[in-house]
Amino acid sequence: MSDLLDQYGRVAGQDVIDHLRQLANPLKGLKVVHVNSTREGGGVAEILHKLVPLMESLGLDVHWEVITGESDFYQCTKGFHNGLQGQQVGLSDSLLKVFEDTNARNVEQLRPLLEEADIVFIHDPQPAPFLKLCPNRKGKWIWRCHIDLSRPYRPVWRYLKQWITPYDASIFSLPEFTQLLPHPQYLILPSIDPLAEKNIDLPEEEIQAVYKQFCLDPDRPIILQVSRFDQFKDPLGVIEAYRLAKKLTPLQLVLAGGSATDDPEGAAVLSEVRRAAEGDSDIHVLELPADAHRTINALQRAADIVLQKSIKEGFGLTVTEAMWKRKPVIGGDTGGIRLQVINHYTGFLVQTPEGAALRIRYLLHHRDRLLEMGKRARRYAKENFLLTRHLREYLALMLGMMIGGEGERLEVWMWK
Ligand code: UDP
Repeated sequence: MSDLLDQYGRVAGQDVIDHLRQLANPLKGLKVVHVNSTREGGGVAEILHKLVPLMESLGLDVHWEVITGESDFYQCTKGFHNGLQGQQVGLSDSLLKVFEDTNARNVEQLRPLLEEADIVFIHDPQPAPFLKLCPNRKGKWIWRCHIDLSRPYRPVWRYLKQWITPYDASIFSLPEFTQLLPHPQYLILPSIDPLAEKNIDLPEEEIQAVYKQFCLDPDRPIILQVSRFDQFKDPLGVIEAYRLAKKLTPLQLVLAGGSATDDPEGAAVLSEVRRAAEGDSDIHVLELPADAHRTINALQRAADIVLQKSIKEGFGLTVTEAMWKRKPVIGGDTGGIRLQVINHYTGFLVQTPEGAALRIRYLLHHRDRLLEMGKRARRYAKENFLLTRHLREYLALMLGMMIGGEGERLEVWMWK
């Protein structure tokens, strides 16, 4: 297992690993449980796939559990997701009952583990009621919100708040996502794993192979967005930006996505995207399997520019993934993207398809700027958004909560 730490040491620096070991020492043997709603698809699963083994390699006893339900459960939780990101959604009492019953059923199977755990991380709203359903819990419970909660639709937040209030702490990605809650709220930014198949260096032949596999023309620029097919990722806005830019510049667009098992709206958004792309053979809509990590890696490397034109975004791992590959990112001026893209320095922040088109044309006509921004993006991602930094902050938080009781000794940030 220490092999794993050594591998990270080679990317992030041995001093970073020594620091992690030092922080983890008093936490050895600590029973930690993460619960989220999918093992594949979306940023949370992507992070847990590596965070969990890395915590284990530091001597913690880590478990990753997934809440599962029927389609109406996911319909309800997708409604929460949309509502928390500001959409006016109506959730019937019967749907909320499905949500609560599904949580109760899942807790029944996990109760001994949850009640015995020293620290429980509950990710996002899907398993939020777990805490109230474990009255004999022994450890500290933390609600980790990955969603853009800057302007939630109030009725949805009011409903969810009853489940979140009793937690010992919550974690958000940005200060503007925090809420009025009676416990400490911490800020921790997500991260990417530089050693994951998604992010490792690839041999040139493997990058070349994706041109062939997806019929891409190596002689014309490629712009790419990798995202679940979700309205908040604005794939239609990306197509519009591409069309505007293409009037003056030869161009190809790749929209690569797939669906997460907990996202029931993906198919509808995908068919809208296909309709919008119809008749243009330079728009490549790729529906990739959940484990197509190397393919996504190669596409990100083959692209000239990466877009993430979201209109709401908790963080946007795809932005950091592209930055790590030295790509300038044109990102929606929203949520966590604002912390990753330094406007005019590592990429551009845009609010409209017109704005995105303008920046696409600018970068394609100023190749020196494109390369320069890409290099800065890589440096910025390395300094700020690698898994080792993320893990360090989780360890520091756990240490603070275990030693300080209420977390008052070590607060990354706090609002009461
Ligand atoms: N992703 C993937 N396949 C897809 C679409 C996305 O593997 O078809 C990955 C993407 O590379 C990134 C994560 O899923 O690692 C998405 O995380 P992000 O924070 O960008 O968005 P979320 O889906 O969590 O809203």
